[in-house]
Amino acid sequence: MKLYGQSYIAGNWQNNQQGDTFNSFCPGTNEYLPAMFFEATEAQVRRATASADRAFKSYRRISNRQRAQFLSTIADEVTVLGDALIETTMLETNLPRQRLEGERARTIGQLRAFAEVLEQELTPLNLNCVDEGDETRLPIAKPHTALTHIPIGVVAVFGASNFPYAFSTLGGDTAAALAAGCPVIVKAHPAHPATNELMTKAIDKAIKQCGIPDGVFSMLQGSQHPLSHQLVKDPVVKAVGFTGSLAAATALLKTINDRKEPIPLYGELGSVNPQIVLTGQDAHQQSILATQLVNSLVMGHGQFCTSPGIWFVPEEDIDFERAAINAVEVAHSDTLLTTGILQTYKKRTDMLRQHPNIALVAQGTLSKQYHAAVQLYTCSADDFVQHKLLQEEIFGPCAIVVKYRDEEALVHAVEALDGQLTASVYGSADKLHEQAEIIESLSYKVGRLIFNQAPTGVEVCMSMNHGGPFPSSTDVKSTSVGTRAILRFLRPLCIQGGI
Ligand code: NAP
Repeated sequence: MKLYGQSYIAGNWQNNQQGDTFNSFCPGTNEYLPAMFFEATEAQVRRATASADRAFKSYRRISNRQRAQFLSTIADEVTVLGDALIETTMLETNLPRQRLEGERARTIGQLRAFAEVLEQELTPLNLNCVDEGDETRLPIAKPHTALTHIPIGVVAVFGASNFPYAFSTLGGDTAAALAAGCPVIVKAHPAHPATNELMTKAIDKAIKQCGIPDGVFSMLQGSQHPLSHQLVKDPVVKAVGFTGSLAAATALLKTINDRKEPIPLYGELGSVNPQIVLTGQDAHQQSILATQLVNSLVMGHGQFCTSPGIWFVPEEDIDFERAAINAVEVAHSDTLLTTGILQTYKKRTDMLRQHPNIALVAQGTLSKQYHAAVQLYTCSADDFVQHKLLQEEIFGPCAIVVKYRDEEALVHAVEALDGQLTASVYGSADKLHEQAEIIESLSYKVGRLIFNQAPTGVEVCMSMNHGGPFPSSTDVKSTSVGTRAILRFLRPLCIQGGI
C-alpha cells in the first residue's frame, strides 16, 4: 500500500519534502524499514490547532446521531483496510497476527459501543438531572436548574507503542473525544508510523463521507519531543489523553503546569499489578496457578500495562515456585516493541541482578541478542517493603515472586504498594472472607480488583474501570476503557431559569 509519510492536517496530507525524517523500524529483524516519515513542523502543529479550534464551533453542534454515524463509518473503514493493516502492524511491532486481529476487533467494537451510546442520546450514562423550581419556597424562591454536559474542547492524544490500535491513533481516547464532540489532534507514536497513517486514512474517508468539518481530526507524525510539548502548550488544547510511561507523562505534565490555563492530562500509565496468592492452596493448585501466571506474564512478552509483575506467595508454597521456575525455563525469547524498551528492560533487569536483596531464580532461552529473555526473581516480603526499586514497573517479561512468612508480612507489603491499575487475589471463598482486611486495603490501591483470575485482558464495557491511583494513572476518577471514558471529554454545565 502506498504511504504518504506525511502528517495529516484538517483533511490534507502535508507536503513537507524538506523537513527532518525518520524511518519505521522492524523489531522482528532489528532493522529499519524503507518507509520514511517526515517530522511534523512547528508550523504544522499551529495549523492543526487552529483548524481544530475552527472545527470545534461546528462539530459541537452536530447531533448525537450524526456523530454516531461518523464513528460507525470510521469502524467500517477500518474493516475495509483489511489484511494490509494487520501486515503493516506486524512488521512495525512484531506482534503476532492473532493478537492484532483481536485488538482490531476490540478497536472497532469500541467505536461501535460509543456510537450506540450516542444513538441513545447518552442516556445509558445517566449524566443529566433536573431540580424543579419552587416560587413559593421560603425564605427565598428555589430556581429551576438543569444539569447538562458539553464537550470540553480540542483534545490532544498520545498513544502507546504496545497497543497500536486500541491505545493509539484510533484508540479509546480518540473515540471517546470524537464521541463527546471534541476535535482531536493525535501525536502519533513513532514506533508504528505506517499503522498510524493507515488508521488516519480510515478516519479521512469517514470525515469525507459524513460531511464532518475537516479540522475535527489531525495526525502529527514525529519522533521528537519538542513537537509534543508545543502541542500541549497550545492554548487551544483543553485536555490531553495520554497512554504510555510515567516518565513521558511527567515530562508533559511539567509543560502543562507552565500554562496560564491549567488543563487535565488523563495519563494511563504503568503498573506492577500485584498477584496475591493466599495460603491454603494444595500442591496441585499451586502448580496450576504458577503456570497460569507465567502464561499471563509471557502474553505480549510482558508488554501489557496489566502484566503481572509482582507475585506475593506464602513462603511454604514450594510447589508454586518449582512450577513457576519450570515454566519460565522453557519460555521462548522474543523481541520487544522498540529498541528503547529493550534497552530499558536490560538496564532494569541488570539492576535487579546486582541487587543484594533479590535473586534471579529462572531465565528463559535467549535465541537472539536483540531479544529479551523471560526472567523470574524472588525476594522476601520484608525486602520488598524496604527497597523501592523492587516495587517499580519493569516493562517486559520479568516478574518477582515475593515470599511472605505470615499474614502480618503480607499486610505490610500490601500497604507499601503504590497505586495500581489492577490486583488479583487467589484463594478459596473461605480464605477470601478470612482476608477481608487485606482485600479492603488492596481496594484502595487499585482501579480494578480481580478474584481468582489473571489481570491481562481488559473487557470493553460500561462497568469497566481502566485507571487507578497514581502512579498507575494521573486521574483516579477516570477510566480510559469502556463507554464511560466519554466523561473525561465532557464538562458539566448547569442551566438555571429558562430562555
Ligand atoms: P512512552 O515511551 O511513554 O511513549 C508514549 C508517548 O509519549 C509517545 O508518543 C512518545 O513519543 C511520547 N514521549 C515519550 N517521552 C516523552 C517526553 N519526554 N516528552 C514528550 N513526549 C514523550 O510509552 P511506550 O513505551 O509507548 O509504552 C509503554 C508504557 O505505556 C508502559 O509503561 C506501559 O505500562 C504503559 N501503558 C499503559 C497503558 C494503560 O492503559 N495504563 C496501556 C498501554 C501502555 P516518542 O516515542 O517520540 O518519545
